[in-house]
Amino acid sequence: MLDGIRVAQDVGFDAIKINTVVKRGVNDDDVLAIAEHFRGTPVTVRFIEFMDVGTTNGWNLDQVVPSAEIIERISAVHPLEPLRPAYRGETANRWRYVDGAGEVGAISSVTEPFCGSCTRARISADGKLFTCLFASRGHDLRALLRDGCTDAELEAALAGIWNARDDRYSELRTADTPTERIEMSYIGG
Ligand code: SF4
Repeated sequence: MLDGIRVAQDVGFDAIKINTVVKRGVNDDDVLAIAEHFRGTPVTVRFIEFMDVGTTNGWNLDQVVPSAEIIERISAVHPLEPLRPAYRGETANRWRYVDGAGEVGAISSVTEPFCGSCTRARISADGKLFTCLFASRGHDLRALLRDGCTDAELEAALAGIWNARDDRYSELRTADTPTERIEMSYIGG
C-alpha cells in the first residue's frame, strides 16, 4: 500500500512526520488508505500538493489534487477538525481526528500559496543563496566569503538580499509557468 508514498521522513522530538506528494491518477486513490495506516500512531502524514519544482518532474496543473479535496475525502470517513498553526509561517495546515486518533497535515502550495509568510531560504552546495524554491538564480555568497568578508559584512549582505526579495512564485503560478527554475535536489529540498 505504501509503494506510492514519496519521500521525506522527518523525525522531531515529539512527532514523526511522513510526507507524501499526491498526484492525480497516480496515488490519489490511496489517500484514505495512507491516512488510515497511520491513524492511531504517533506518525503525522502530511499530504503535499504536486508542485512544479524544477523543470523535470513533468508537472501539470491537471495532476494537482487540492488539499481541500484530500481532507474532505479523509474527513468523510474519519471526521477531522482544523488545528491552529503551531508557529508563524508553518507550511502545513493541520487537522486532528475528532475521535483523538492523531492528526494529518496538508501542504497547499498550489491552491493556497503562502508566499506572504514564507521564510524559505536555501544555500546550494556551491554557496549560492536562493530566496525562493522556484528561483531561477541564486546570490553568490561564496564569492563574498572568498573575498574575505567579515561575519558582520556577510550578515549585512544576507539581510540586504532578504529584505529586497519579492518572491511570490506560487501566488503567480499558472499552467504556463516559466521554464527556468532551480531543481530541488540542487538546493536540498
Ligand atoms: S513560491 Fe517561493 S516565496 Fe512562495 S512560498 Fe514557495 S518558496 Fe516561498
